[in-house]
Amino acid sequence: MSGNALPDLLGLSRAELATLLAPAIDRPYRVEQVYRALYEQGARSFDEMTALSRPLRAELAQRFRIGLPEVASQHVSADGTTKYLFRLIDGATVEAVVIPDGARRTFCISSQAGCAMACRFCVTGFWGAGRDLTAGEIVGQVLAIAGRLQAQQSLNLVFMGMGEPLLNLDAVGAAIDVLGEWISLRRITVSTVGLVPGIRRMAGWPRRPNLAVSLHAPDDERRSELMPVNRSWPLAELMAALREFPLEPNRKLTFEYLLIAGTNDAPADADALARLLAGSGLTTRAKVNLIPVNPDPVLGERMVPPPLEVVTAFRDRLRERGLVATVRRRRGDDVSAACGQLRAFGRDPRGFRRSNLSL
Ligand code: SAH
Repeated sequence: MSGNALPDLLGLSRAELATLLAPAIDRPYRVEQVYRALYEQGARSFDEMTALSRPLRAELAQRFRIGLPEVASQHVSADGTTKYLFRLIDGATVEAVVIPDGARRTFCISSQAGCAMACRFCVTGFWGAGRDLTAGEIVGQVLAIAGRLQAQQSLNLVFMGMGEPLLNLDAVGAAIDVLGEWISLRRITVSTVGLVPGIRRMAGWPRRPNLAVSLHAPDDERRSELMPVNRSWPLAELMAALREFPLEPNRKLTFEYLLIAGTNDAPADADALARLLAGSGLTTRAKVNLIPVNPDPVLGERMVPPPLEVVTAFRDRLRERGLVATVRRRRGDDVSAACGQLRAFGRDPRGFRRSNLSL
C-alpha cells in the first residue's frame, strides 16, 4: 500500500466504520447511512451519498477513500464468461471471472495477488507469491462487477480466483461478514488447497460459507507431487479436519478433483478416491466436482485433460460407489478465464491470450 493513501472504508465492519467515522460525523446514524450507501447503493464516490449533507460529503472525501479496484481490462468470451483484470492501489493486479449460467451468475474472485502454493497444474502458482488482499479489495472486486449488492439473489461467489484464501483468512472472513449481509452464505464458497489450521479456524466461525477442498489425487504420493502443500498437511490430517468440519443441514463439502490424463484418471483412481472418502466418513457429507485440467503452455506437456469418455467413466464410477459427482464444464477458454489460468497481466511477458502465444 502506498504510505499516503487515505483509509479505505470498504470491507470494514459496522463497528470499525463507526470508530473510523466518529471524528467526522455529526450523528451516529450516519454510520449506517454510509454503510448502506457503500454496499446497497454501490456509491463510487462520497458525492453519490446524497443522504448526507454536502459539507459532510466533502469532509468524508478529505479523510477517506472508497477503495474500489480499477478495471484495467475486461474480456468477454464467446460463451459470455467475462474476465476482469483489476489494478489495486499499489499497482498489484488480480483477476476475477464472471460466469453466467442462465439467470444465475458466478463470480470467481481473488484473495491474493499471486500464490505461494506452487501447485504444478496452476498458472497463478507458476508465477509465484504475491501479497494478501485487504477485505476492502476483496469486497471491492464484487462491487466493481455487480455495481451494488442490493438485489443480487442469483449471485454465487467463489474464492477460486488467484491465491489461497486460507493464507489470508482474516481478510477473507471480514469480507464475507460484509458480503454475507446481502449474499446468502449458502451461495459463498471458499476453496482451499487444504490448509488444516485454516480449516479448523473456519470450523469455529459462527456463520460459515461453503468449503471446497482441492484434492486432485487419492494418495499422498501423487498429491504431494501435484501439490507441495500435501507434504505439510497430508491426507490423513486433512481428512480428519474435514470430518470435524460442521455442516448445516443440506450442505455438503465440495472436493475439487482435477482430471489429468495418465496421472490421476484411471478407474483404480476413482476407486481409491471413493475409498478415501468412505474411510473418512465423508461419502454422504461431500460431493466431488471433477474438473478436466485446463492446459497452459507454462505448465508443460503433462497437464492434458483426458478424453470425454474417460471423464464420464470416472464420474460414473464415483456415483456407483455412492458419491455425488459432477463434471465442471469448460468456460471462458478463449479469454484465458478457465480455471487455473488466472495470472496477473503484466507478469506474464508473453501476453494475455493463449492464442497469442507462440509455442
Ligand atoms: N487456492 C485455492 C483457490 C484457488 S484455485 C484452491 O487451491 O482451491 C481454484 C481451483 O482451480 C482449484 O480447485 C484449483 O485446483 C483449480 N485449478 C488450478 N489450476 C487449474 C487448471 N490448470 N485447470 C483446472 N483447474 C485448475
